[in-house]
Amino acid sequence: MTTGTALTRGMALLGDALFPRFCVGCTREGKILCDVCNEVWISMSTTQLRTSEVWTFGVYADPVLRGLLTTWKYHFDDTAWAVLRRRLQPQMSLLHLRAAMAGVEAVVPVPLSRRRRAERGFDQAVEIAEWIAAGIHRPVLHLLERKHVDGHQAERTIDERITAMHDNPFSIKASKMADRQKMKPTHVLLVDDVWTTGATMHAAAEVLVTQGIGSHFVTVAKG
Ligand SMILES: [Zn+2]
Repeated sequence: MTTGTALTRGMALLGDALFPRFCVGCTREGKILCDVCNEVWISMSTTQLRTSEVWTFGVYADPVLRGLLTTWKYHFDDTAWAVLRRRLQPQMSLLHLRAAMAGVEAVVPVPLSRRRRAERGFDQAVEIAEWIAAGIHRPVLHLLERKHVDGHQAERTIDERITAMHDNPFSIKASKMADRQKMKPTHVLLVDDVWTTGATMHAAAEVLVTQGIGSHFVTVAKG
């Protein structure tokens, strides 16, 4: 754990003590997801992992799922991630089967930029990747990193940046090449929190293809 991470976690713990939690479903004070909302939410949920270009556990239009994801991401509230994981866990065996059938050998998170990671203290995609890796019994490989972009570029959307720069925001993490050589995966599962246009994951997959690695995509939610 870096000092930054420890500090962020420390502040989150302090926040728990100072500020009450509110339900992401009904805003009632007490828990991140109250018992009533949890029960309704579970009964509403499908247990079918959605398939399309991306395998996804849910939709971003689901206000409870969105509330839990953003509470975790922006308020560093691990309780939200714990609730979300419990709810998504039943779909894991299907992902396990699909990943096995697709020949997935490892799980690769789509990384945040170093600056973003430092600001936030953790990388949501990495934590999701670790949870999925444990669920499908494959290792996590940190093969990618985000190239440095200046402030102006960081303001743009990733689509605009790709178009503007004719360049890819990701590169292969040189320090991890040795790991890859030991492992040599040809199929990996690329992991991110939310799928919106797919531009980010396609850019990441493009970089992996240059190393002879094919990708399948999985996100917690689809926008
Ligand atoms: Zn509630």
